Amino acid sequence: MSTEKLKDWGVSTGNMLLIAGPCSAESENQILQVARALADRGATYLRAGLWKPRTRPGSFEGVGLRGLAWLDRARSETGLKIATEVAEPSHVDACLQFGVDLVWIGARTTTNPFSVQALADALKGCDIPVLVKNPMNQDVGLWIGALERLANAGLNKLGAIHRGVSSTQEMRCRNAPAWKMPIELMRKMPNLPMICDPSHICGKSALIPAIAQEAMDLLFDGLMVEVHPDPTSALSDAAQQLTPEIFLQMVAALRHPHEKGGDAAFEKRMSQLREKVDEMDSRLLEMLAQRMEIVSEMGTLKAQQNVSTLQPHRWQEILREREEHGAKLGLPSDFVDHIMQTLHEEAIRRQEEARLT
Ligand code: PEP
Ligand code: MN
Repeated sequence: MSTEKLKDWGVSTGNMLLIAGPCSAESENQILQVARALADRGATYLRAGLWKPRTRPGSFEGVGLRGLAWLDRARSETGLKIATEVAEPSHVDACLQFGVDLVWIGARTTTNPFSVQALADALKGCDIPVLVKNPMNQDVGLWIGALERLANAGLNKLGAIHRGVSSTQEMRCRNAPAWKMPIELMRKMPNLPMICDPSHICGKSALIPAIAQEAMDLLFDGLMVEVHPDPTSALSDAAQQLTPEIFLQMVAALRHPHEKGGDAAFEKRMSQLREKVDEMDSRLLEMLAQRMEIVSEMGTLKAQQNVSTLQPHRWQEILREREEHGAKLGLPSDFVDHIMQTLHEEAIRRQEEARLT
């Protein structure tokens, strides 16, 4: 899949790409107010949702086509480029008529390959950047698939946006960040610009700066942030929108670490530490291989005695004991839980395999 690097998009970005603006366009005045506050202060694109995907009917569903004229006016007045979400081919047609500079595909849409293909068909032959938000669930395949559909339609200014994933577990964030998804995408598609949307990750404005900084620490190429002239009166996502002032303060305070570039002492110490980590990883792998051999032997014994693979009480006990032990060693219980679940999944697979041989 060939995609252009951000620096070849022909837009000025400074040290990161900034896309900012309200969750939803609400009035011409609101759009102009936020555009004026953001102009010439580092943002490249003014964002505003026109067609809003709402969980329940009856909520504010966006101003639709009317908002395009407001964005167009904000662009001519301030020089900001304009961006909005497209979910249906008719949205794409309207955006292309108004010369919208960038479109993005929302998380709900990415989840549905039929919708993504319809958008890719509608965008065929265009040269505008298209950003794809990760799907609602933790599925990198769907995210990549959406990017591939767009690439197959000839689009080559593509980018990805991480906006977190919904979870049933109680958490601080509205959509917990799942950093391993963008990290995996960066590994598979190193040229693809990777943007973070801390607004939809956090759901609360107070949490946004920390997540934005975390994205910089993970070498993201930019941010998409919801900015509203008066967040408390916003018709959608009121709790997570920043005022232009707070947004600009946050951007100014961000640190931009480099992948390389420490001094000689740093490099020396890092290579010592990396050597230790490499050695520990290799010991961990050897131990895992040994553990799985024991598990296979248990599988054979269970098969001979017609004993079930799953031992619910034993499994319950293992999880409880490992979490307790982990906690004593300073390991968070969800981390230990995650590792044990992965080990258990492979153990079950091995035991079923042993049953068949
Ligand atoms: C949005 O950006 O306003 C939006 C609806 O986001 P998401 O698709 O990430 O929920
Ligand atoms: Mn929103």
